[in-house]
Amino acid sequence: MTMTLNGRTPHAPVHHRRSRRLLVGSAYIGLYLALAVAPLLVLGLDELPPRRDFWTELSVALGFLGLSTMALQFAVTARLRHVAAPYGIDVVVQFHRQIAVVATLMVVAHPVILFVRDPELLALLNVLEAPWRARFGVTGLVALLALVASSVWRGGLRLPYEPWRIAHGVLAVVAVAFSLTHIELVGHYLDEPWKRGFWAVLTTALVALLAYVRIVKPLQLRRRPWRVAAVRGETGDTTTLALEPEGHEGFRFLPGQFAWLILGDSPFTVEQHPFSISSSAMRPERPELTIKALGDWTSRVRETPVGHRAYLEGPYGAFSVDRYAAPGYVFVAGGVGITPFVGMLRTLEDRGDTRPHRVIYGTRRADDLILRAELDRLAAGPLDLRVTYVLSRPPDGWAGETGRINADLLRRVAVGELPDHVYFVCGPDPMMDTVEDALLKLGVPLDRIHAERFALD
Ligand SMILES: Cc1cc2nc3c(=O)[nH]c(=O)nc-3n(C[C@H](O)[C@H](O)[C@H](O)COP(=O)(O)OP(=O)(O)OC[C@H]3O[C@@H](n4cnc5c(N)ncnc54)[C@H](O)[C@@H]3O)c2cc1C
Repeated sequence: MTMTLNGRTPHAPVHHRRSRRLLVGSAYIGLYLALAVAPLLVLGLDELPPRRDFWTELSVALGFLGLSTMALQFAVTARLRHVAAPYGIDVVVQFHRQIAVVATLMVVAHPVILFVRDPELLALLNVLEAPWRARFGVTGLVALLALVASSVWRGGLRLPYEPWRIAHGVLAVVAVAFSLTHIELVGHYLDEPWKRGFWAVLTTALVALLAYVRIVKPLQLRRRPWRVAAVRGETGDTTTLALEPEGHEGFRFLPGQFAWLILGDSPFTVEQHPFSISSSAMRPERPELTIKALGDWTSRVRETPVGHRAYLEGPYGAFSVDRYAAPGYVFVAGGVGITPFVGMLRTLEDRGDTRPHRVIYGTRRADDLILRAELDRLAAGPLDLRVTYVLSRPPDGWAGETGRINADLLRRVAVGELPDHVYFVCGPDPMMDTVEDALLKLGVPLDRIHAERFALD
């Protein structure tokens, strides 16, 4: 039997879109691997310079591979919507982090092997006296190590997000540009004109990608401004912004997707934050974002005047009921993680969905429950929805669930009764880890558990 979404499906049936995503996703992985090894393979063609010993050649090969993997990170993090779509942006960011470690190990192995083979080469680390090719190589390496250290230990170093992000971008450009120049100056595999041409094409492609991300994309955003149409204070220290496109049609999105928001007159800013769209995907002309005051920027959102200029980059994300056919959905949320679920539930309501759904929503206190009145309205309306609130610090007289969301609660409220449902989980990291483990232990298969983490760094 083919399962489709209840009500209208906006595009092709879910299983068709799934196979297409698999195909496109596999094609991008193939392209990625081809691009990662291309410099090494192409420069190894045709007339080769005299061969050196095995360790030197291995070290050079690792250097080339490390550099192409580093350069590809610019494409991985460019928020190219078609590239991110098959996997979801959090998977892409996870890949970016893990492959960064692999690239760093390869790049570090390059000089380490050379130094072990010939300790006299250690003199090249003295950038005051070393030749320019070594100066560029060493500076590129130091920038890379600073990049990785400031990312891995950002929390411990208490680096605020925005300055870190600016430094991350600058260090990445320095690391790659200096390494490219290092190879150019060493010139061992670039001795033929066509190889120099190939190297120039790679460098130009990289500069073009940077220009696209930093100049073309903001220019595209500037042509599609939005205005803040309403600012609503909500429970749980949150604010909902309703946005309307100005002079364009806005965009269509899948329920549960998110967008990067810029508040202000210019899209040329690093001050842009991702938020789930908490309104119905059936009303794309006026998307809403529900924002919890967590840091300096989000704490000022409630002061935004109506009519203020905004920019929305998106939609992004794979966390959507429209991607997974099911007899119904169970949404497990903690804190502000409820926002994509309210967007999905509002959409299901607008579509006249008749399947049974559950929400399990945990916070500390009753006052922290975000959009509680809206959840109660949805549960009381035509949607077949039951909402279970779980408070770890319940007020006197609270008759609902207490403590934390755990395996016992999940079994009682959802899994025991709805074993074939698809599960969505969103909330603070520890809560998500507990819920994902508990669902697996309760026998829910991995491909029916979908999670979105609000921390991309
Ligand atoms: C896919 C996704 C969907 C999200 N949906 C919502 C939502 O619907 N409602 C909501 O209230 N929050 C949501 N968030 C979280 C929200 O983006 C952060 O709370 C917000 O950016 C914090 O900004 P700040 O400067 O006030 O806080 P800070 O104190 O500066 O940052 C707190 C943390 O938020 C993250 N963060 C900060 N700035 C950015 C940025 N520019 N880009 C990415 N991460 C950043 C970092 O992990 C940082 O450590 C979502 C995050 C993601 C990744």
